[in-house]
Amino acid sequence: MSFKISIPENAQRLIRLLGEQGHTAYVVGGCVRDSLMGRVPHDWDICTSATPQQMLEIFKGIRVIETGLKHGTVTAVIDGEQYECTVYRIDGEYTDNRRPDKVTFTDDITEDLKRRDFTVNAMAYNCTDGLADPFDGIGDIERRIIKCVGSPAERFNEDALRIMRAVRFSARLGFDIDHETALAMNSLSKNLSNISKERIRSELWGIMNSPSCEKIAELICDFLPVFTEIIPEIGDMAGFEQNNPHHDFDVLYHTLNALKGCESADPVTRLAVLLHDIGKPRCFQDDDDGTRHFRGHGKISTEMADEIMQRLRFDNETRHKVCQLVCYHDSVIEDAPKYVRKWLNKIGAEQFFRLLDVKTADTKGQKAAFDRERTEKICRIRELAEEILEEKQCFDLKALEISGKELIDIGYAPGKKLGDTLKLLLDEVMNGTIPNEREILLEKAVSIYNNDNM
Ligand code: ATP
Ligand code: MG
Repeated sequence: MSFKISIPENAQRLIRLLGEQGHTAYVVGGCVRDSLMGRVPHDWDICTSATPQQMLEIFKGIRVIETGLKHGTVTAVIDGEQYECTVYRIDGEYTDNRRPDKVTFTDDITEDLKRRDFTVNAMAYNCTDGLADPFDGIGDIERRIIKCVGSPAERFNEDALRIMRAVRFSARLGFDIDHETALAMNSLSKNLSNISKERIRSELWGIMNSPSCEKIAELICDFLPVFTEIIPEIGDMAGFEQNNPHHDFDVLYHTLNALKGCESADPVTRLAVLLHDIGKPRCFQDDDDGTRHFRGHGKISTEMADEIMQRLRFDNETRHKVCQLVCYHDSVIEDAPKYVRKWLNKIGAEQFFRLLDVKTADTKGQKAAFDRERTEKICRIRELAEEILEEKQCFDLKALEISGKELIDIGYAPGKKLGDTLKLLLDEVMNGTIPNEREILLEKAVSIYNNDNM
């Protein structure tokens, strides 16, 4: 592995300015990790022996935001790019599983690296001194392992968010989690109750946004206590048997298999797959022969998904999208153009393709015998939808070849009747009973008008 990192000119300039005044400075954390892995860092953080006051002095002439003077951080802005510069820090005692009670500044880079979460995040680099890597982060990159700096239990007791960060980095980088670190994550998962919902949500989103659904499913399985801590309803799915000809697995393992089978990279779709059956344990009926049914589970799952996402402070738009997918995940979609046009009208193209992805994933999590037939039907529906979009077929009022204004021109008064007529015309066009042609639509509108005014 090459230890040479090409630091962008602007970050290099800050390091040079600090060096000229007798300070040491390095790029640190994520950018070093990503560079060593051949990935493009999305930002470059700098750490230095200079205090914030000294930095303000040294960076005169550069725009500086006083981000967190108390915590030792200033942000330099050059060419619109932000560089967070933080003095080497020692974190004091943690009493709330969240933040150190106090921080002290130091001029020792190793002390600063010690307070960082994982070995792969605890490396620093500059062109003069090369790589500072006291915890063998480079070895853990080679071994593809997320491992705490120092004692995992201590580190997770200090700051429980690190538990979620470990899952996120594992998902994002495709790394395994070191055994001792993993044990501590599960056994200290309760500490997450001290972390704000917003921060948990943001990590969960990062996990859902990582490259491989298979890895996400594996992590949920391996860290069930962690996921159950943040979404207790997930715990209720574990071991909840389905006793149903469609299913070989309990609700959780069906869900995780569905997630594994999810081919979408989109976190909204993935979240919907994770939550699609969350209501099943609260909604089941057992026949005399022991067969279990889950009538109405779509509705209950939607209500629960809504509650969970509110609790985790998801934004309204994301929440509505996920809930809509959960709501319709079990709806029957016929594979004929008119039905597909109606679905496109009902939920829009973007959501419809997501829904097909959710349905495919759901099918893949079920018994193999059902799989092929259902998957093929979904494929046909997808092709139909693609064709409808490509041919710009009409499935909403925007694409209807007649507008409200034209109805007013032929005598309609603005209001409900006009709206109803437009909807009726659109319905007929979607059904394929009349073509989307202006003359024909006008003729039809006139005849409706005349009928109503007879
Ligand atoms: P990303 O690519 O997600 O930004 P990153 O490694 O840069 O990854 P940041 O959250 O930006 O992560 O944090 C920057 C660095 O600060 C980390 O690499 C790590 O060294 C340190 N760090 C961040 N959060 C924590 C924490 N909760 N506990 C200990 N160290 C942390
Ligand atoms: Mg970062």
